[in-house]
Amino acid sequence: MPIIEVSRLTRSYAVGEGTLQVLKGIDLAIEEGEFVAIMGPSGSGKSTLMQILGLLDRPTSGRYRLFGRDVSRLSDDEGAALRSVTIGFIFQMFNLLARTTALDNVKLPMNYSGRRGGDDWARTLLEDVGLADRLDHAPNQLSGGQQQRVAIARALVNRPRLIFADEPTGNLASDQAEDILRRLQEMNRAGITVIMVTHEPDIAAHAKRIIRIKDGLIVSDERNEPVAAGGAGGKAATAALPGLKPVKAAALEIEPPPMGLSEVEENVVSAWRAMAANKVRSGLSMLGILIGVMAVIAMLAIGKGAQKSIEDRLSSLGSNLLMMFPWSATAVGGVHGGSAGAASRLTLEDIKAIQSASPHIVGVDGDVGGNVQVVYGDNNETTSLTGATVRYETMRASKPYYGRFFTQKEDDSLARVALVGQTVVNNLFGAENPIGRLIKINHEPYRVIGILPAKGSTTFRDQDDVVLVPLNTAMKRLLGKKYLDMISIECDAPDNISGVMRAVEVLMRHRHHLPDYKDDDFMIRNMADIQQALQGTSQTFSLLLGIVAAISLLVGGIGIMNIMLVSVSERTREIGLRKAVGAARRAILLQFLIEASVLSSFGGLIGIGLGVGISLALSHFAGWAAIVTPQSIVLAFAFSAGVGILFGFWPARKASLLSPIEALRYE
Ligand code: ADP
Ligand code: MG
Repeated sequence: MPIIEVSRLTRSYAVGEGTLQVLKGIDLAIEEGEFVAIMGPSGSGKSTLMQILGLLDRPTSGRYRLFGRDVSRLSDDEGAALRSVTIGFIFQMFNLLARTTALDNVKLPMNYSGRRGGDDWARTLLEDVGLADRLDHAPNQLSGGQQQRVAIARALVNRPRLIFADEPTGNLASDQAEDILRRLQEMNRAGITVIMVTHEPDIAAHAKRIIRIKDGLIVSDERNEPVAAGGAGGKAATAALPGLKPVKAAALEIEPPPMGLSEVEENVVSAWRAMAANKVRSGLSMLGILIGVMAVIAMLAIGKGAQKSIEDRLSSLGSNLLMMFPWSATAVGGVHGGSAGAASRLTLEDIKAIQSASPHIVGVDGDVGGNVQVVYGDNNETTSLTGATVRYETMRASKPYYGRFFTQKEDDSLARVALVGQTVVNNLFGAENPIGRLIKINHEPYRVIGILPAKGSTTFRDQDDVVLVPLNTAMKRLLGKKYLDMISIECDAPDNISGVMRAVEVLMRHRHHLPDYKDDDFMIRNMADIQQALQGTSQTFSLLLGIVAAISLLVGGIGIMNIMLVSVSERTREIGLRKAVGAARRAILLQFLIEASVLSSFGGLIGIGLGVGISLALSHFAGWAAIVTPQSIVLAFAFSAGVGILFGFWPARKASLLSPIEALRYE
């Protein structure tokens, strides 16, 4: 029974408006083990016929049975699976993968067939074609004849039953051509059916059977006594490699094999090679992802840092605290603001009155704030000054970690004593012990009696860059203020907070003589309110930062898509070759997806490095709180790989849908 059987086979191409019929009804049968040369003048349809027989192309009409199975209407992937394990191709243009070693070129079809055999078998084949010392050479480091021998080894690697060779010697000098022909005869002796296309009679003379076609029809078909290759006085034909015996499966395999690890590995390596070959281009397209990821990491770190410092600050205040601000002070940050045109006034008397407003009030503190200049020796700086009552120490968790707090007596007597924050200590005293030293605040001498506990910095403000003096001293000596900027009230238990708020409100309305129809001219906030307001602000902030980062990732993704489209059209011939040696659609899709995600995750990795670096630099040099969490790194990495997959999908799909023969012919 013949292994190839075609009847009334036609193929026409749409050219412009009309159609061009290239094959006009071919009837042909080829037995297993034959060596057939298809001859004819240029343009007669030899390659077209061979491509249909090799399942690279489909006939327009007619029947084609391969190994007894009707294959004229196979799907793309079924064709690929069949080609992969039963057919080997040798092309006139060699069609080796650029920048890929001879050994890897030979191994390529094994990635798609799922057949094991690995390095050793590919090496043996290369040794057999005389390239033992050229395993690691790329195609551009090999002569034409050597490249064609690599292609022969590649065609044999899956132990095919059929070899198709289209003008295999067309680009070679005659001595190289003899060598190739000898090898084809050798394969044929090993039991492989060889079908060779040529237009040269002395090449065809090596075959056992010569079929001539002209204008799309077979004009003659004759048996031939083949010449032994090597010419007169040439070497005796060598024995064929034992491993070449074709694998004759009981049933034809038309299911693509499951994806193998070697395939993924080959894809990652080839993606890497393609990137390395176009460094500037890849670098530029990675830049978008890189900037995006860097922004994500840095922004998340800053957002997180801001949130953390707000939380720290709040927890140091205690949750039973109420804060009262005069009239229009903004909900947050009004503490030292001294709100513009505050119509209402909080006084020292208010502090006393509020103390007895409710039995649930534990303590009341009044604060004023402002900026002052502090001088010690040659050092001076502008810092923020807070004036507070003695209650501040416990209510605001400010027990000095070194030295002492001021006393009620010092407050009453407007004593010139001060506590300093850690930043002030660093700036003014360096390594010196500040306790007992005299500093000048706005030109008046003050004695330093204690160092405030460190509170860290929020994103925009260093809470340790502060000087604390008694309230009366601050109001009367330093700031010239008659009214308080804020009163804080401590309750005995969280459950009583709302009761205390109401009691204080009633009291203050009374003290300010507010008639019923007027709104409060002060504002009382509890910690929950303040926390909410602060968190709202920091969330908005993070959201904005996130949007900026997302936009740059999107831009980066478009860059990747663009470069992948370029890559697909640049490598169309490579895609055609991969399909010809058995790559299913899935394999090509995967290859370009892997390539896109290698590109974007590489950009992502660099971006993560830079983002972490920037965050550290910000917290180190600018004093911003920036916290890089492992989650943000994982998120950024997943995101960048995801962008590659998302934006690489369309180009990858485009590549996977190419027909093998159109891709091979692409220019
Ligand atoms: P050859 O016998 O030289 O190998 P081919 O089989 O490659 O010839 O081509 C036969 C004819 O078909 C040529 O005239 C060529 O112009 C035409 N042809 C081949 N491929 C296409 C195509 N994709 N579209 C239109 N015409 C084609
Ligand atoms: Mg041709």
